[in-house]
Amino acid sequence: MSFSTALKQELVGLPLEKTCCMVSELSALTACCASLSLLGRGRLQLVYTTHSPSVLKRIFTLLKQGYTIAGAPRLSSLSNFGGIKQYQLRLSGEDSRILMRGLSGDHKGSQHLGLPSVPSRVVRRICCRRAWIRGFFLGCGSVLDPRKGYRAEFVFDGADRADYLVRLLKLGGIDALRSERRGSEIVYIRQGDALFTLFGLMGASRAVMELENIRAENSLRESLNRVANCDTSNFRKQVGAAQQQIEHITRISLAQGLTSLPKDLEELARLRLSHPDLGLKELGDLASPPLSKSGVQHRLRRLSQIAQSIIKQD
Ligand SMILES: [Zn+2]
Repeated sequence: MSFSTALKQELVGLPLEKTCCMVSELSALTACCASLSLLGRGRLQLVYTTHSPSVLKRIFTLLKQGYTIAGAPRLSSLSNFGGIKQYQLRLSGEDSRILMRGLSGDHKGSQHLGLPSVPSRVVRRICCRRAWIRGFFLGCGSVLDPRKGYRAEFVFDGADRADYLVRLLKLGGIDALRSERRGSEIVYIRQGDALFTLFGLMGASRAVMELENIRAENSLRESLNRVANCDTSNFRKQVGAAQQQIEHITRISLAQGLTSLPKDLEELARLRLSHPDLGLKELGDLASPPLSKSGVQHRLRRLSQIAQSIIKQD
């Protein structure tokens, strides 16, 4: 099961508590998943469509508990063009009418379902804001597996719903970003901290804990990689430098013999030739008396200067 599916499973299993929140969550789900179809003689029917049977079950439970709808909704599954199954819930004409009246409350004139009724109390009450965000996520949200990256996104077909979500998230302490993709409005989040906040706001405590574990694993892996990369690049530098030192010493040896060097330089030159793979500190330890790293560096610089002057004379 993908991380996103598991998160949705957790969310649909959350207990329904206050009526205000049930209305909020259902409004958000209606805004994402519902459409109206004509029944004839001017009667309308509300139809919910989703890819997820568990989201459809959640919608049904919310309808039953929040609105005590009378008729049994008709559930059907149908395949769309891509072969992905879709599930539909059709309300009776009478229930559709009751629900639309309940949901569209005080805001008239918006072309979208559900969203029209964003009563100001929803924005005031934290519980209802959370329920709206949860409904939006269940209806049109998804999250990438955090092992692959931190990203959650919501896909809307109207800018007003996207704007509204951005506002709700902002009130919850999340700065979401916006973009457009093939005519859809995208609201997305791409930071680990913001994902934490999002899961927490929606009430997904299991996902919060899982994200915490994954983040710890990710950061451990990153720091191990950093150490490994750093070691490799240091090692390469060290080998490169040692090669150059050996070239210089060989140059001196060929031109004038190492015995022509002052004793301290001769000793170090011989040590370097015998131990090409040692670091400066280890090389200094072999000298008698032992040399510090900076003492070794100083002598190597002098050897290099001598080699350079030989090269110039050539
Ligand atoms: Zn509430």
